[in-house]
Amino acid sequence: MDSRSYRNPRVDFPEQPGDAMHGQVRFEPGKALWMGLMTTGAVVGGALTMTTGAVAVFLITTAVTLCLGHSLGMHRRFIHRSYRCPRWLEHTFVHFGTLVGLAGPLTMLKVHDTRDWAQRQIACHDFFAHRQPWYRDLYWQVFCRIELDRPPCIRIEPEIADDPVIRRMETTWMAQQLPWALLFFTLGGWGWVFWGICTRVVVCVLRHWAVGYAAHNRGQQTWHVKGAAVQGYNVPWCALITMGESWHNNHHAHPSSPRLGLQPGQWDPGWWVLRALQRARLVEIPP
Ligand SMILES: [Zn+2]
Ligand SMILES: [Zn+2]
Repeated sequence: MDSRSYRNPRVDFPEQPGDAMHGQVRFEPGKALWMGLMTTGAVVGGALTMTTGAVAVFLITTAVTLCLGHSLGMHRRFIHRSYRCPRWLEHTFVHFGTLVGLAGPLTMLKVHDTRDWAQRQIACHDFFAHRQPWYRDLYWQVFCRIELDRPPCIRIEPEIADDPVIRRMETTWMAQQLPWALLFFTLGGWGWVFWGICTRVVVCVLRHWAVGYAAHNRGQQTWHVKGAAVQGYNVPWCALITMGESWHNNHHAHPSSPRLGLQPGQWDPGWWVLRALQRARLVEIPP
């Protein structure tokens, strides 16, 4: 498989070629403040208010935001457009994806597409390759951003870029936790808020980094993308908790496939849910 056999229509145009190699990693105070706040809520608040009900809320909200939100909403639909669905369903799923606590949808798309593009170049910065030791990569990915000297041009299609709901979700991504926090407080008190919001966000952000780090460093390889600086790896042990996202070697080779677990026995909960939604006639999966 050749890295040039797939081209993301949003990224990199000949008139403004980007350089994936040279740039600076910059500390982002906003990200640090957000994670500091959530970690304090998780560690202090979570420890003081732990009940079976609160932990159940954490588990259920984690599963819903990761599966319907991050995997099906943000990644397979919003970013890759790998299946079709009504606008209201996309908005609902993208909202759940925003609740994961990483960033707003347009930022998620730009970060994803820039990294994807960089990994397909002949060479790229360690930030994109997850090539540094785990503690530095953790610091970079969770608390910093990269500023390339010559970033690629990214043109987001108007259907997405001009969608007022998406734009609103982009500017209010942190505040979207608030209505849920209020609901959880009303139903179960502070325990539900600390576990259903703070602990969930911290666990999901750290898990997202850990899987990203593993999936670019070690694991199974079925496919090799020729000419690409970075290869993806399949990490079978976390297929279930990542909703199938850890079949990352498959994803590098087939970025537009709505199914990530491609071989028999590769568990892909996101795909199972997508097939159920297809049977309910809520989504259309291209042949
Ligand atoms: Zn990758
Ligand atoms: Zn992707």
